[in-house]
Order: sequence, then structure tokens, then C-alpha cells
Amino acid sequence: MENGYDVIVVGLGGMGSAAAHHLARRGRRVLGLERFGPAHAQGSSHGGSRIYRQAYAEDPAYVPLLLRARELWEEAAANSGQDLFTATGGLVIGRPDAEPVAGTLRSAREWGLPHEVLDAAEVRRRFPTLTPSEAEVAVHEDAAGVVRPELAVRAHLDLAAAGGADLRFQEPVVTWEALPSGGVAVTTPRARYHADRLVVAPGAWAPGLLPGLVPLRVERRVMYWFAPRSGVQDFAPDRHPVYIWGGEVEGDEMYGFPALDGPDGGVKVAFHSRGGPADPDSLDRTVHATEVDAMRRHLGTRIPALAGELVRGAVCMYVNTADEHFVVCRHPDHEDVVVACGFSGHGFKFVPVIGEVLADLALEGATRHPIGLFDPARLRQSPSA
Ligand SMILES: Cc1cc2nc3c(=O)[nH]c(=O)nc-3n(C[C@H](O)[C@H](O)[C@H](O)COP(=O)(O)OP(=O)(O)OC[C@H]3O[C@@H](n4cnc5c(N)ncnc54)[C@H](O)[C@@H]3O)c2cc1C
Repeated sequence: MENGYDVIVVGLGGMGSAAAHHLARRGRRVLGLERFGPAHAQGSSHGGSRIYRQAYAEDPAYVPLLLRARELWEEAAANSGQDLFTATGGLVIGRPDAEPVAGTLRSAREWGLPHEVLDAAEVRRRFPTLTPSEAEVAVHEDAAGVVRPELAVRAHLDLAAAGGADLRFQEPVVTWEALPSGGVAVTTPRARYHADRLVVAPGAWAPGLLPGLVPLRVERRVMYWFAPRSGVQDFAPDRHPVYIWGGEVEGDEMYGFPALDGPDGGVKVAFHSRGGPADPDSLDRTVHATEVDAMRRHLGTRIPALAGELVRGAVCMYVNTADEHFVVCRHPDHEDVVVACGFSGHGFKFVPVIGEVLADLALEGATRHPIGLFDPARLRQSPSA
């Protein structure tokens, strides 16, 4: 048994790396355990870019967390010297009465967030790569932008290590237990560790490491980088926003980014809800020609400049709860254990604030941040009468 830690963090991806940093900066002795290497591409936090936005269609209750996340993104960027956040502005495009446009406006109005509503002609005029139909509108938000998943994970790991955290890679946690006498024990193929508190942030491996907590669906998702027909200059980040584009039918919602990877790196686009159920240990990581064709056809009517040659593709995983809200809490059965999972394909923009919340919950048992929406009680089956 290796002793002497205040907190063990299991999983050093998006959420776990930020938790390790926030715990270490508060002077705690932290052990971080990760099954793969630093900032790997096997989970949910790779692919170069993630959308950050504030007018949040998913629920206005996320807005205070998004405002705090933005402050912490700036802070982590300054402390690490890495370009973690790029403000590009963002568009949410679709029919005015359909989500995500209606939900985005609801959040913007409830919180007084600066935004503009553009008709289709105005979108085409300002952003000529995008060709919405006459029936569509867009909500433009200046505060939206891009965060960088691999850079952010590395920055948080480096800050955690600089703060004294002991980070161990290629060391999968096999089991954890809350001890009857208080504290926790964690077992890996190399050792058994002991600490006062445990933070479990296992991404797509949550169903195995947190059995019975809440029902979760792991899903495969594909990211595509297409070569713009007229070169990358029309997609330059100083003139092209991030965007979410609602669909007419289930599965059609897509989103995309400016050109972030140089003249030959392509421009990233993806569908929000196509890809099917997955198991993280047997994930199909091949991007199939039929999938590429379907995306190319979709781009043909919306962003014709991208409906050409594929530069590359990559596969990632969403971990969805039934209502697509997160699970962040003290474990309902073990008060020394804190969990973070079920980020349902929209968690990365929150990474630094979730790190702060996890540190609060592990050390204080509570947080000043509004996390009522993430209580797993809403998803746990009530015993049948
Ligand atoms: C294609 C795609 C696009 C997305 N777009 C956006 C977006 O635009 N904006 C946004 O906000 N969010 C977006 N998301 C969602 C966001 O990226 C995720 O919500 C976030 O990355 C989840 O972080 P995590 O820490 O839960 O998971 P991960 O980053 O996967 O971390 C979990 C870690 O735990 C480790 N682990 C698991 N089991 C063990 C074990 N037994 N022992 C040790 N280590 C273990 C894993 O190896 C992994 O490193 C997107 C996700 C995908 C896949």
C-alpha cells in the first residue's frame, strides 16, 4: 500500500487534468492515474478544437458556469503560456422556432448576453462560405470561440505537475473502494494506493468504473477535415466563426470551425448525433467512405466550398446521459468520492470550471457554483413500488 496522498484523481483527460491542477494549486498532495499517455486520442478530448459559447441552448442554468469557465480559460492560458482560447465569434443557425436557435435566444435573453439575430441574407453577406436557406436565421455571439483540447489537457497536467502532483501514465485503475474506516483505496496492476478523497473522471470508461451510478450511452462520433476549394483564407479564424447548424431531420445537426491547422490541414466539420453506440475498448476508429460521402453531400447545400476532398478524419466518443446534462457530484453512496461523467458531447468548454468544482467537492464537500442540474438523482431509477 502506497500512502500519503490527500486526493487521488482517476482519469487525466479533460476533467481529470483540470481537477488535478485545481487540487495541486490548493496545496494538496495529489496522485493522478491515467490508463494511456498524456493528452491521448483514445477518449473524448482530441481533434484539435472544441466550440466555446455562452448563450446556451441546452439550459440557461449553464450560463454562470460558462462565464466562470471563460475566466479560467484565460487564467490557464496565461499561466501555461499556451494559446488555449481563440475568440472567433459564433453562429447558431436554423429555423427560428426550432432548437438550437430558440434555446440559444432563451439563454441570451435570460442572462442579458450580447447577441444579434441575422436573417439568411445577412449571414451570406457577412460569412460568404455559409449558405443558409431563406427559412433559416442565425444568432451571432461575439463571446464564442475555440478551445484546444490536447493543448488544454497538457497545460493542466503541466500546471498540476508544477504544483507538485504525482502523475502516473499507462497505469489503469482496476478497482477503487471507499474504506469503512474512511478514505479510499485504489488498485492498479502496479500498486494499491490510499488517500483521503477520490475524484473519478473516466470519460467513456465510466460505465465500468462507476457501475450502477446512472445509465450512460457511449456513442461513436466522427470528425472530418475537408480541403476548402478556394483555399483556407475564407476560413481564417479572424474572419470565420464557429457555428452550430440545426437540421431539418434527426441526425442532421452539424457544427464546424474556422481553418486552424494551416494551409493544408483542412477545415473541421462534424455531425452532432450520427455514429451509433460504442464500447470504448472495441471502438470502430475507421472513418468509412459512406460516412465521408454523407458529410460531403450535406456540405453541398450548406457550405459548398468544403464539399470536396477529405484531408483526414478521426473518431471520438460522446458519453450521453438520458437528458444530456452532466453528472458532477459527491458519489451518492460514498462521501469521500467525487464523480464527473456523462458530459454528453458538450463538456469541453467547461473543463476548467469543472476542475474547480471537483476540487471544491473533494476538499470542502460543497461548491459555490450552481451544479444542481448535474445531480444524478434525476437519472437514477426509483425502486418500483
Ligand atoms: C467529436 C467530439 C466533438 C466535441 N465537441 C465539443 C465542443 O465543440 N464543445 C464542447 O464543449 N465539448 C465538445 N465535446 C465534448 C467534450 O470533448 C467532452 O465532454 C470532454 O472531452 C469529456 O472529458 P472527460 O474528462 O469526461 O473524458 P476524457 O477526456 O476522455 O477523459 C477520461 C480519461 O479517463 C481515462 N481513464 C478511463 N478509465 C480509466 C482507468 N480505469 N484508469 C485510469 N484512467 C482511466 C481515459 O483514458 C481518459 O484519459 C466533443 C466531443 C467529441 C467526441
